[in-house]
Amino acid sequence: MPAAAPAGQLGLFDARDAPPEWAVRQSARARRLTVKVFPGGRVEVVVPRGTGPVAVAAFVSRHRDWIDRKIAELRHVVVAPLEPLPREIEFQALGERWAVEYQAATSGTRVTATDGCLLVRGDLGRVRVLRHALQRWLMRHAHLRLGPWLAETALATSTQFRRVQVRRQRTRWGSCSRRGTISLNACLLFQPPAVTRYLFVHELAHTVHMNHSSRFWRQVADWEPDWRALDRELMRGWRHVPAWVLA
Ligand SMILES: [Zn+2]
Repeated sequence: MPAAAPAGQLGLFDARDAPPEWAVRQSARARRLTVKVFPGGRVEVVVPRGTGPVAVAAFVSRHRDWIDRKIAELRHVVVAPLEPLPREIEFQALGERWAVEYQAATSGTRVTATDGCLLVRGDLGRVRVLRHALQRWLMRHAHLRLGPWLAETALATSTQFRRVQVRRQRTRWGSCSRRGTISLNACLLFQPPAVTRYLFVHELAHTVHMNHSSRFWRQVADWEPDWRALDRELMRGWRHVPAWVLA
């Protein structure tokens, strides 16, 4: 594994003008010192194995002007495909499609939504932090859109639930507690609308029958005659869920 040393340890940059992230990487294959500045402003100095801090410092100071120019140029550039983060999010359940853009920012991570476009601002070198921000937005969006839809379905089926909560899990699509709390998996957003509605009907039927008895299924069939096909579809629904959601 190539070793990465934080720049601060080598005293190459002082904190005031340090770029968002940068590293010195030792490489067995490198024959000479090179420096690269990535979109977003991340700096990487690659050095042959065994290169000492003095040689690195000399190299960096020789190229300091170029590096600074490059950082200024690339710091606010939107990074092109930022794997494994999405460039687009499609919620089949809602018929919604969101374009996702990423922008370098130094003051925290933020997701803002406007007109079918999500803007994710943050340190573009930290994919996990950006992904968490997107996941948090997903949860808020799921609550905002699935909650009222469930309430509507309850009204249409003359059932009642006490409270709805949204979760993000790999194992179940929904549940209904004895106290009337219905849990919905945020991944329902990625399912076809009929499948999502079937899950609602299923959980609402549990507010009447807390089991999977034949009376329960008769109740479900009453509200959703096509329940068998939709239930099968839901069991295979994980294939619609993009990797970043559960990562
Ligand atoms: Zn059930």
